[in-house]
Amino acid sequence: MSLFSPPRYQAAFRPYRRDRDGLLIRALTRVERWIKGGIFGCRMCGNCLLKQTAHICPMTCPKGLRNGLCGGATPEACEVDPSRPCTWHRIYERAQKRGWEDRLLEVNAPLDGDRVGRETWLNLYRVWRSRGKGPRLRDALFQRGRFKEEWDALFFHARQPDWWQGDSRYHPPAYEEPVSRLEEELRAGGFVVTGEIAPPLGPSPEVIRKKADLLRGAVVAANFTDNASASARMSSLASSKICLDVGLEPVMQLQARDRSRVVLESDAIGAAGLGIPNILCLTGDHHRFGPGPVTTPDQFDMDAIQLLWMLRRMRDEGRYLDGREIKAPPRFFLGAAASPFGALPEYEAIRAEKKVNAGAQFIQTQPVFDHDRFVDWLEALDKRDLLGKVHILAGLIPLKSARAAQFMADDVPGVVIPDEMVQRMTGAGDKESQQETGFVMALEILEKLKKTPGIAGTHIMAVHWESIVPRLVEEAGLRKAHPAPQV
Ligand code: SF4
Repeated sequence: MSLFSPPRYQAAFRPYRRDRDGLLIRALTRVERWIKGGIFGCRMCGNCLLKQTAHICPMTCPKGLRNGLCGGATPEACEVDPSRPCTWHRIYERAQKRGWEDRLLEVNAPLDGDRVGRETWLNLYRVWRSRGKGPRLRDALFQRGRFKEEWDALFFHARQPDWWQGDSRYHPPAYEEPVSRLEEELRAGGFVVTGEIAPPLGPSPEVIRKKADLLRGAVVAANFTDNASASARMSSLASSKICLDVGLEPVMQLQARDRSRVVLESDAIGAAGLGIPNILCLTGDHHRFGPGPVTTPDQFDMDAIQLLWMLRRMRDEGRYLDGREIKAPPRFFLGAAASPFGALPEYEAIRAEKKVNAGAQFIQTQPVFDHDRFVDWLEALDKRDLLGKVHILAGLIPLKSARAAQFMADDVPGVVIPDEMVQRMTGAGDKESQQETGFVMALEILEKLKKTPGIAGTHIMAVHWESIVPRLVEEAGLRKAHPAPQV
C-alpha cells in the first residue's frame, strides 16, 4: 500500500534482460523497488515521472497512460476497473492543490524497454555527471534559486531521452499550404461539417461506397473508426482508401491500442503513401469494452499525445522515432479527440492543451447533448489560450432510438445525456416517432452549436444512420460541401 497512489493495477515491472546487471545493481534495484513501491506505489518503469505527477505513479493506471486521463475517466472511478479510483484524477487533484498543474503539460515519452524494471537512482547520477552543470551542494546552501533550477533541469534530462525530446511548448506545423481539403475548409472559416462511417464487418467495399455516396455533398470529410470499442471490423486504413477512391476525403482514425510504436509509424506512413491526408490520433478504448474473449490486460505502448508528438515530428522533422531519416517526409493533417464531459473542464483543458502542443490541429469532441457543460469546457480551453491554435468540431449524434439513448447514457464512457433528453426519447412512442424525436433534438443542438463562439463546425456521428446526415445538414441551413475531385 503506498502513501499517495492508488494500488497497483498490475505488478511491478521486471527487466526483459537480466544478464546485464551485476550484483550491486541488482541489489540497488531491489532496494529501490522496495522503498519507492512502498512510498509511491512505483511500478519500476525505469522512466520515472514522479516529479511531474505529484508523486503518484502514473503506471498504476490500468492503461499505463503517462500523459493524463483517458476519455472515460470520471472523478468517481476508473473506466477499466470501477472498483478503483482513476489514478490520473488523483494526480490532477494533488497537482492542483500544490499549484503544480504546469508540470502536467510536459509531453512524456513512452517507456524505454531497456530501462524498464531497472533502477533509476544510479541513472540519475550518470546524467548528473554527464551534464557537468550541477546541481551543486554549495548552491543548496548559498544560491537556492540556482540549485532548484539545476535540480529541475537534471530531472528533465533524465526523463526526456534524446530520441524523444518532449517539452511543454506549443509546436505549430512547419508547413504553409494545407495538406487536405478539410484543412483548407477549416482555415477558410465558416461552419464545417464532417461525418463518420463505421467500417463494415465483412470485406465488401460496396458498403463503404454506398455510405460515402450518401455523405458526399453533405460533409467535407468522413471519419473511419479504428476497431472502436475493441471490436474487430475492416481496418480504418483500408476503409479510408476505398472512400478516397470514390471521391470523399477520409479522416483515418489511428488508435494506439493493440499497436506498438513501430506499427503506428508504419501505418501512418502507409496512409500517407495511399494519399490519406487526415489522421485522427486516439488512445483507444480498453479491451474490456470489447465483445470478448478479452485479451491479456497489457498496458498500451503509446497514448494519443505520444502518437501526435511522434507523427508531427515524422512530418516536420522527417525522422522516425529511432532517428532514421525519412527521405520524403509524409504530409499529415493531424487531429485528436476530446471529452468535454468526463472529468472537470479544467482537467480536460490541460489534456487538450497537451494534445495541441504535441501536434493536434483539429479536435473532434464526444457528442454534445448538454450544451451548457460544453460551453464550460470551451471556456476552460479559452483560459489556456487554445481556441486560436486548434479547430474544434463539436460532436453530434442524432439518437435513433430510446434504447440507443439509454445505452449511451449508461454505458458509453465520456458521454453524458441529460435525463430529460432520455425521457423525451422513451416517451416518443413507436420506432418512427423515436427517430423523429432524435432528429429534432439533433437539430436543436445544432442550432445552439451554430451560435457557439470558438468552434469551427460539427462532427456528425450518425453511425448506422448515415442517411439522416444530408437531411440534417439541409434543415440546419448549413452550406453543402462541394464534391471532392475523383482520384
Ligand atoms: S479512468 Fe482511464 S486514465 Fe483513469 S486510471 Fe482508469 S484507464 Fe487510467
